[in-house]
Amino acid sequence: MAFSLPKLLYSYNDLEPYIDAKTMEIHHSKHHNAYITNLNNAISGTSIENLSIEDICKNHSENMPIRNNGGGHYNHSLFWNILSPEGGGNPNDKIAELINSSFGCYDNFKEKFTNAAMTRFGSGWAWLCKVDNHVEICSTPNQDNPLMPGICKDDSIPLLGLDVWEHAYYLNYQNRRPDYVSAFFNLINWKEVNNKI
Ligand code: MN
Repeated sequence: MAFSLPKLLYSYNDLEPYIDAKTMEIHHSKHHNAYITNLNNAISGTSIENLSIEDICKNHSENMPIRNNGGGHYNHSLFWNILSPEGGGNPNDKIAELINSSFGCYDNFKEKFTNAAMTRFGSGWAWLCKVDNHVEICSTPNQDNPLMPGICKDDSIPLLGLDVWEHAYYLNYQNRRPDYVSAFFNLINWKEVNNKI
């Protein structure tokens, strides 16, 4: 079955002032939609057309159109769901315990995650993943993600992803990626992150 654009659980303007409505609209309805269209075109009529997006990223990333567009679909779907107008603040429950045991405290985590987002040269993503019984930070180029082999630690489960492509922030923040990354922490839906653990 062909993939389709997931509906957002909030309106395009609900994440303001941290992410503006125009950026959200273009990002979701144009960029994400284009990844889905291209992914569907790449897998249509092939033996993998009925696989889950996770399975496609895990096991079929050697094909570049499938890697780039499958990653684009998975990454953006995760991204929309870990953002919320009611997000931000300190993590709670299971994710708070994992962050504290892995990084010492939330502020240390923020510093390391920000560093991963800032040092990703060009386009890509910063990630928080669960690996075994702890959490780790990594970053990926393009639309790669931690499900793909040889990217982060094997068997990494992405909990949190931040899109640092310029299309994610340029309209409002221009070249100021640090301001965008800093704003992101005000939107994190920790409830949804906890649901992934
Ligand atoms: Mn994007």
